[in-house]
Amino acid sequence: MTGTMKAAVLRTIGTPLKIETLPIPEPGPGEVLIKVHACGVCHSDLHAVEGDWTPLPNLPLIPGHEVVGEVAALGAGVDHLVPGQRIGVPWMYSACGHCEFCLSGMETICTAAEATGYSKPGGYAEYMVADAAFCGRIPDGADAYEIAPILCAGVTTYRGLKRTGARPGQWVTVIGIGGLGHIAVQYARAMGLRVAAVDVSTAKLDHAKTLGAEIVVNAAGVDPGTEIRRLIGGSHAAVVTAVSSRAFEQSVSVLRNGGTVCWIGLPGGKQDDIRMTISGIVNGEMSVRGSNVGTRQDLQEAVDFAARSLARATIKTEPLENVNAIFARMKKGEITGRVVLKLA
Ligand SMILES: [Zn+2]
Ligand SMILES: [Zn+2]
Repeated sequence: MTGTMKAAVLRTIGTPLKIETLPIPEPGPGEVLIKVHACGVCHSDLHAVEGDWTPLPNLPLIPGHEVVGEVAALGAGVDHLVPGQRIGVPWMYSACGHCEFCLSGMETICTAAEATGYSKPGGYAEYMVADAAFCGRIPDGADAYEIAPILCAGVTTYRGLKRTGARPGQWVTVIGIGGLGHIAVQYARAMGLRVAAVDVSTAKLDHAKTLGAEIVVNAAGVDPGTEIRRLIGGSHAAVVTAVSSRAFEQSVSVLRNGGTVCWIGLPGGKQDDIRMTISGIVNGEMSVRGSNVGTRQDLQEAVDFAARSLARATIKTEPLENVNAIFARMKKGEITGRVVLKLA
């Protein structure tokens, strides 16, 4: 396919994205060209643009890793997709497929993985190229814009909840009710868990309540651990999706003994170092785990929940040209739910 496309491009770390006209990329062997319909705006995109993480993203960068679109062209050797088929592209652009981690169903920690919209160009563009083996299938009937955030926020929270080991009927505390957290509340409910929600925004806590959280705690006014233990004796599990490192420091304190907290947010930069109490973890036999996006199978499961409306991102669609203004609002914590760029 020849022609040009519109894309939001980062040329220098820490500068605004520029809307540019670029050639439509060509899919190589094993790759697929996607006509992008929707791309969610994730907090990680802001971290990429601001250079909060090492290694830094490859420049020039087209961010975006919550992509839903349709197959526009197939590279050589791709025979499991057909033109026009709807697919999605997550953060995990590819993994090596032959290391210890890939072979044991842990491709999320493959050290040779590539990241969409970070090491590879992403979906803030009318077209993008992806590794055909790592695209998700998007069921017919699912709304492209509502499904887009599931490609990152959805699969990340879904896997994070699974990695707590919480069973139906047990309590999970969701700390941080933003783009990830408001979806975590719904997956938790769909998995039969009881949900407590912690945030510093009354609006976000009200949102959590409408999504099924039974208990909400405003951490701006009270210590969340003390309050959760007072109300329910501590929760069996917790997931931390917050953008403030303080929330991670506090996260073990919301657990009852034997509990597991799974960290899925990434505050980044100077906030990466925190202080915790050793005795609290030892004496209570607590577990602290990390969870990094999800495997291809996690992705398909997370999409299937969402396609059945069991988890739905609260979204607002905006044009690509608004992207810098969206980042500005995101920095101030003013976005409830998810903003999705409308590309087609
Ligand atoms: Zn993301
Ligand atoms: Zn690998």
